[in-house]
Amino acid sequence: MGLVKTDEPFITTKIDQFIGWAQKNSLWPMPMGISCCAIEMMSFAGPRYDCARFGSEAFRFSPRQSDLMLVAGTVTYKMSHVVRKIYDQMPDPKWVIAMGACTSTGGMYRSYSVVQGIDLFIPVDVYIAGCPPRPDNLINGLIEIQKKIAAGQKPGQSEKIYIQESPRKYERKITQ
Ligand code: SF4
Repeated sequence: MGLVKTDEPFITTKIDQFIGWAQKNSLWPMPMGISCCAIEMMSFAGPRYDCARFGSEAFRFSPRQSDLMLVAGTVTYKMSHVVRKIYDQMPDPKWVIAMGACTSTGGMYRSYSVVQGIDLFIPVDVYIAGCPPRPDNLINGLIEIQKKIAAGQKPGQSEKIYIQESPRKYERKITQ
């Protein structure tokens, strides 16, 4: 039995929703841990914050297998070429989180060598405040990306999200 042609976009819509659901629950990060913020990013992946609960425990270290770039640290102009190259090697659709003050704005480094925000050379979807931000807030950023995917938004084109709070609400109790 073949497919029946219809004016209703029923099948396509369902497939889109299914793909969105799958991607939302299996975002694989490309960790760009460039300086001190990366320590909190590692904590995000560890047992206390356990990003596996959100389907993102598979840090790939391969741009070909990643769809979420986590930029965590002070990006110099020299390093920005590397970050951009890795971003270009990631398949679409790909999302970007700017973690911390340095990544988002250059932070305290008003210097000739430091890029004053990575959105000068790649599109950013979520900015996370802090020096460094708590791992909770990186989880908040991840959840915001999941909401965007669930809403059918496209990377780099939807409204930017700025995360300020540090709610300490995703920390797990570790029992000895
Ligand atoms: S925001 Fe603070 S913790 Fe993060 S890279 Fe900059 S100086 Fe380091």
